[in-house]
Formats: sequence, C-alpha cells, structure tokens
Amino acid sequence: MPKVMLVFPEGKHKVLTISYDDGKGADRRLVSLFNQYGLKGTFHLNSGLMGIDDRIAIDEVTELYEGHEVSAHTVTHPTIARSPKEQLIEEIMNDRKELESVTGYTVRGLSYPNGSYNQLIKELLPFLGIEYARTFIVRVHFQCLMISLNGIQPAITIII
Ligand SMILES: [Zn+2]
Repeated sequence: MPKVMLVFPEGKHKVLTISYDDGKGADRRLVSLFNQYGLKGTFHLNSGLMGIDDRIAIDEVTELYEGHEVSAHTVTHPTIARSPKEQLIEEIMNDRKELESVTGYTVRGLSYPNGSYNQLIKELLPFLGIEYARTFIVRVHFQCLMISLNGIQPAITIII
C-alpha cells in the first residue's frame, strides 16, 4: 500500500523560511542576498505606510519581492491588543485587498504588529481569510545558530 506523506514543494521534508516586517529599505539588500543564495522569505507589509520614510513604495513591491511571499501586517501597524474589533477587521481586510491588488495573488498570512495579539484576533482571523499568523517569542533560554553567507557573519540568526 502506498504511503501518503505531506511534503513541501519538490518533495522536501524540511524547509527554512525567513520573514521580515514593515517593508523597510533594508529589504532591497536582504532580498538580493536571499535571491543570491536561494532563500525564500515572507515580507509582511503595511499597505497604508508604503513609501513613507524608509518604507518600500507600492510601485516597487511586485518587482522587489518577486519569488517571495508578500503578506499582511495591517494597514497602519496598530497594536492589536489595544484595538477595537471594528478597527482590526478594517486594518486586516483593507491590507489584504491592497496587497492582493498589487501582487495578484491571495494574501493568507499575517504578522501581528508589535507582536501583539489576543484571543479576539485569534477568533477573527479565520473570518478574515487569514490562514496563519505569527508573532515573535522571546525566551530566557535560547540557542543561536549563525549561518555565514559568503563571509558575512552573522547573516541570519535563528532563535530556537
Ligand atoms: Zn511591524
């Protein structure tokens, strides 16, 4: 009897993905390094802040992030735990709509601004078309794995 296994594209069992928030100018160099070394990333963008200060302009998004995932980070970066339900719905849905119109694909991920989340947002997300969300976790005990990219150290730090 054949075994059915869930794998990533190209039959891979393990993958590494890296995600960055806010769409700042440093993404240009980061994406260039990712492309040079065959890494894939998810870039969580605030559609209402694009082009402001050091943030990537909306007309640069498609070309810059080609081959990577663009995902939601809300329109204006509010702290989730302090925001009313109506604002959260607008922030996420409008961010999705804007990013989808730019990228041409369905946005299914979210990074919580400032890492803030609560039970309400966890309950809302499935109704807003979001399939996954992430925050960052700071642990007292951690290990650092540093990967050298062409002599640049640390290029990537993974906190486990
Ligand atoms: Zn952010």
